[in-house]
Amino acid sequence: MNRVALFPGSFDPFTKGHEDIVLRGLRLFDQVVIGIGNNATKKRYFALEVMKEMIEKTFSGEKNVKVITYDDLTAHTARELGATFLLRGLRNTTDFEYENGISQVNRYLYEEIETVFLITSPNFAPISSSIIRDLHRYGQRVDDFLPYSLSELDKLSQES
Ligand code: ADP
Repeated sequence: MNRVALFPGSFDPFTKGHEDIVLRGLRLFDQVVIGIGNNATKKRYFALEVMKEMIEKTFSGEKNVKVITYDDLTAHTARELGATFLLRGLRNTTDFEYENGISQVNRYLYEEIETVFLITSPNFAPISSSIIRDLHRYGQRVDDFLPYSLSELDKLSQES
């Protein structure tokens, strides 16, 4: 059976916490599709295409990982992909409260979908995209939290 999971998120930016969820998801599913939600009403900090490239680079050796961007309901995107699982990470009770609601709605929209939650690995629990954005905004190097190098990218964009 081909078990495809969609891992949806803003990934603004994609962090080592997200990478950990994907790598552990690969033990459960035949394919993990990382879906970067492109919500036109939400302004991103890191450009969508740049983040897609960084994630592709991170998993260049993993043939069972695919990266897409989407501008639709997550449940509809999963159905189109033939994915019957959504993969999400849980760090704390705040994540749980939020995830509980959206997983119910996703199953209302697409009955066959099952959301699978992986509890964060302890060393990645404190990592959040919003904290990383704040650090980066004020010039702090954030590469330690990311599975690719942003400093290299920043250098390139300053040179060009
Ligand atoms: P969203 O905007 O949909 O919440 P995020 O990019 O913030 O998207 O997160 C995508 C998923 O990854 C969510 O399920 C979130 O709980 C999970 N996640 C975020 N950071 C971590 C982390 N450090 N460890 C494990 N899961 C995480």
